[in-house]
Amino acid sequence: MTNMIPQAPNNNQETWANLEDYTRELVGEGNEVYVIMGSYGVGGTGGNGNAQTIDNGRVTVPKRIWKVLVVLQEGGDDLSRINTDTRVIAVDTPNSNSVDSDWGGYRTTVDAIESATGYDLLSAVPVQVQRALESSVDTGPTN
Ligand code: MN
Ligand code: MN
Repeated sequence: MTNMIPQAPNNNQETWANLEDYTRELVGEGNEVYVIMGSYGVGGTGGNGNAQTIDNGRVTVPKRIWKVLVVLQEGGDDLSRINTDTRVIAVDTPNSNSVDSDWGGYRTTVDAIESATGYDLLSAVPVQVQRALESSVDTGPTN
């Protein structure tokens, strides 16, 4: 269960589901998509109200759930094809049943997720390219 998190039902069934649908759509259009996701913070609000943990304190309920998508046209040698024009979609959502179903409104920068989590995402991408890709918010279509 190392790849599971307690996620508010409306986040999972609406916001996240819509983003997953859109990701499948991108793949259907001839793209390949790298998907990185995670969570941070403590305390979410699901069907039973707010909780900091579940299972007698053994599992932390995260406060935020984020995802970063890197969209490339299908092809080989992916790393070498990532440049400052590559579409990168970063989303950071509240782990709450009052989340909006429109994931597009939660778009942010990769840099913001990096500073919230302490991770260096896309770390295999050359630093200059990371700098450009990670500092801008996606404005592309959302469905
Ligand atoms: Mn960065
Ligand atoms: Mn980075």
